[in-house]
Amino acid sequence: MNKSPFSYSFELFPPKTEEGHLKLLNVIEQLSALKPSFISCTYGAGGSSRGKTLDIVEYIQNQHDVPAIAHLTCVLHTKDEIKSILQDMKSRGISHVLALRGDPPKDNPHWTPGPENFQYSCELVAFIRKHFGSYFKIGVAGFPEGHILAPNRDLDAQYLKAKIDAGADFIITQLFFNNQDYFDYVSRLKKLGVNKPVLPGILTITDYNALVRFCGVCGASIPEAVHAIFKPLADNPEETLKAGIQFATQQCQELLDKGAPGLHFYTLNKLSPTNIVLKKISK
Ligand SMILES: Cc1cc2nc3c(=O)[nH]c(=O)nc-3n(C[C@H](O)[C@H](O)[C@H](O)COP(=O)(O)OP(=O)(O)OC[C@H]3O[C@@H](n4cnc5c(N)ncnc54)[C@H](O)[C@@H]3O)c2cc1C
Repeated sequence: MNKSPFSYSFELFPPKTEEGHLKLLNVIEQLSALKPSFISCTYGAGGSSRGKTLDIVEYIQNQHDVPAIAHLTCVLHTKDEIKSILQDMKSRGISHVLALRGDPPKDNPHWTPGPENFQYSCELVAFIRKHFGSYFKIGVAGFPEGHILAPNRDLDAQYLKAKIDAGADFIITQLFFNNQDYFDYVSRLKKLGVNKPVLPGILTITDYNALVRFCGVCGASIPEAVHAIFKPLADNPEETLKAGIQFATQQCQELLDKGAPGLHFYTLNKLSPTNIVLKKISK
């Protein structure tokens, strides 16, 4: 556990190539040396990298003695498959899971759940509690601006409450750039009686065009102020990086000053710039 006055954690994804995997082992070593509260590893909904998540999580726990969280998406999986993945996790000593629905993959976009599948992540959370009791600490995804398919923010908050009522312990949010969205979200949840920690997901902007593409898919909005800073720098990686570090540092500082319980960094499998932002806010 880090000794910093605030908690911080990192997210990784399983690389597609052997070369990427070797690089990741190096990054894990460097990130682990920063003593995060935990490192989480994503799960490719329907993708070929699914099997690697547990190997990476087990490696982080065993080789670096850092708590690690395995993301698990239920889309495309049957309940029996999910049960055996959870049994595998348990046999490897993995006790933290981020329970997600995921999205149907590009090559099977119209997949719809049948009776053997889960429809929503709250069902996955309930299933984990039913079959594994309190063994797992369960996190779920939260969306400060509402999930892209949710009709509105209030309903979205109610769906989040359903995940907590089903047995989830904490929330990690989608990335966002307007801190007020995060604080409003926490207030909405509190009004519904949700008092579990809501860890803000932080992306340090390093590539404006990639950001626009990603936010177009996940539905996170990019404030005009962010466009104004980063669009003119789109062809200048060095200046984008500098501005990204400055923006993320200010964002993180304000979140902590106003009571966020910690920071969860989307590292994109890199040490930098997350380590630089952390150093700046630790001062
Ligand atoms: C922190 C974080 C980590 C992520 N990690 C991964 C990952 O590792 N792999 C991956 O593939 N994707 C990942 N995602 C993306 C995520 O899988 C997608 O955003 C997905 O569309 C929603 O997942 P969910 O678990 O929130 O689904 P759900 O909670 O099931 O929500 C899905 C949709 O259904 C609606 N809904 C939810 N509950 C109900 C209900 N009870 N009744 C009616 N409607 C409901 C929601 O509003 C939403 O529109 C992550 C997202 C976040 C924020």
